[in-house]
Formats: sequence, structure tokens, C-alpha cells
Amino acid sequence: MPKIHQLSETLSNQIAAGEVIERPASVVKELVENSIDAKATQVDVVVQDAGLKLIQIIDNGIGIEAEDVPTAFLRHATSKILTTRDLFNVHTLGFRGEALASIAAVADVTLATATEAGLGTIAHIQGGKLIDQHSEGLRQGTQISVKNLFYNTPARLKYVQSQSTELNHILDIVNRLALAHPEIAFTLKNGNNLVMKTAGHGDLQQTIAGIYSVGVAKSMLDFSGSDLDFKVTGYTSLPDTTRASRNYISLMVNGRYIKNFQLIKAFIAGYGSKLMVGRYPLAVINIELDPLLVDVNVHPTKQEVRLSKEDQLSNLLTTTIRERLGRENLIPDALHNL
Ligand code: ADP
Ligand code: MG
Repeated sequence: MPKIHQLSETLSNQIAAGEVIERPASVVKELVENSIDAKATQVDVVVQDAGLKLIQIIDNGIGIEAEDVPTAFLRHATSKILTTRDLFNVHTLGFRGEALASIAAVADVTLATATEAGLGTIAHIQGGKLIDQHSEGLRQGTQISVKNLFYNTPARLKYVQSQSTELNHILDIVNRLALAHPEIAFTLKNGNNLVMKTAGHGDLQQTIAGIYSVGVAKSMLDFSGSDLDFKVTGYTSLPDTTRASRNYISLMVNGRYIKNFQLIKAFIAGYGSKLMVGRYPLAVINIELDPLLVDVNVHPTKQEVRLSKEDQLSNLLTTTIRERLGRENLIPDALHNL
């Protein structure tokens, strides 16, 4: 009897899900990113019990053809890349073809999708298997409902924290995705409660107002800077409007929300001694660059990316902010110390 065997598809999908789907907010992130890639202009997120009972994402994007529906739930199945060359020139948020397979491996999923108003497709996926697919009249777009998350992975379920913590994670990720895409109108509801809403008119400052407050948004400075490789734009707060954590600084690379400590540090360095110790600005930083300069295939969740010329970009961030703040009539540093 051979001792080595290939894992079943169900089991390998569950293992993959362990990397991509850490908590309810991961499901929200993956599904909303799919809606963004599908060119939706409206994305509505509904959760019940902070996502443990239900996560539902409704978009008005391009939809999925009936014949593609069974494939969409297979692992490594994607419409977004085809060749190795594409892998290093990614223009979409997704490309690994893992999210739907992973989510379906750890929850019950219902999909309703149509590529145009008229006849669309309804599909039920249970235990990772497509158990029913039929046609039905639908409006254009995609609605995915995820129920009973982690029902078959008790260890992961145990790791999930209180509903308020999980809801905060969901709100945080929807906020960042909305800040990265002011051209999309987002809503987030927990049960019947509207938790957040953005207008989707394409104006970043208005989006910031929807997420933080009108006061904060109005007091922020717009900035922009560029060199041969990078363009940085966004809004940042004056040194008198700060928070006690860096969490209110969102970094976007070509429309993807990412985490990068060095770049945030470089951005803050632009304030010099204008910030009090332990205080940080609120900011949305958009970085645009040739996709060839960024490797997004470093981490399953793609929140960490590898950037070429990171030091050059750091310098650009520092000088852009230093120069922008220099144009404001700020209280001289010395007065801060009185
Ligand atoms: P990836 O996003 O990496 O391609 P996913 O597993 O997230 O992988 O999705 C698989 C495929 O299903 C996508 O490539 C896309 O073609 C299709 N898809 C998923 N969500 C949507 C959506 N909301 N609208 C249209 N197509 C979608
Ligand atoms: Mg995806």
C-alpha cells in the first residue's frame, strides 16, 4: 500500500481556505474585490451576526455566464490572467482564482448572477460541491450569499472573536475598499442597521467625509507628487487633527489597499517635528505605478506586495508631504513646545 496520496479537492480547498479566509472580514474583502473587478458602480454588503450567520454582497457588475458558473468555484479558476506574463502585469485585484473555491469550502454559498437584465443563473454550493444550478429572471450583476461560515472548521470558528470585533474588521475593510474606489457607491448593513455608506460620485474628499466625518474631510489637505516611476496623490490631515494610531492612514497601490510599514513611515516623516509624539495623521495615499514594478503574488491575501524602487517611492512620499505642509501657514515647531 503506498503511503503518499494526493489530497481530495475538498480537503485541499479547505487547506487553501485556511490561508485566505481567516475571519468573516476576509470573505467580505474577497467578494467586494470581485465586485470591483467586475466593474460594479454599486456594491451593497449585508451581514447578520457580524457575518457568522450571513454575508451577502450585491453588485451591479458584469455578472457571470451560466456556463462559467461551475468553473468559478473550482480552485485556481479565474478569468483574470492566462499566462505567466499576465502574472507580472496584474491589472485586477484578483488573479489567484482561489476565493470562491475557498469560501465554498468553509460555508454554504448561493450565487445569483446575470450578465445582462433577463435570464440569469442561480446556483447553490454546499460542502464545496455545486448541488443545484438553474435559470431565473434577474437584473444585471451578481449576488453572493455566504451562510454558516466555518460550520465545518470548528478550530477556525473558535478563533473568531466577539461580534463587535468581527464587525469592526468588516467595517474597516469596507472603508478601505471604498476609500480606494470613490467611483463606487458602497453600503454596509449589519442586520437592518446601516453601518456605512458612500456616495460613489468619484470624489475622494466626499468619500472621506462619508467614512470619517465632514469636519475631518474639510480640514484635510490634498497633495500630489510624482517622479519618473511613481505618482502619489491623496488627502492628509493637518498636524492639529491626529489620531493615536497609524490605522487611519490608508495606502493604495493601483487601487489595491495594502499594508507597508516603510511607506507609511516615510509618509509620516514628511511631517518632520510637526506631529506630537505618538500622534498620526488621517490620510488616504494613492500610489500609481506601472504594474510591472509591483509583485502582488507574495501573500495569499495580497495585502503585502513587493515593490521595486521602494526607497525611491519612500523619498517621493516624504518630500511630497514636506513640501505640501510647507505651503500651509502652520504654527512654527517651537510654539508646539510651549
Ligand atoms: P479571482 O478573483 O482571483 O479571479 P475568485 O475565486 O475570486 O478568483 O473568482 C473566480 C472568478 O469568478 C473570477 O475570475 C470572475 O470571473 C468570477 N467572479 C467572481 N465574482 C464575480 C462578480 N462579483 N462578478 C462577476 N464575476 C465574478
Ligand atoms: Mg477574487
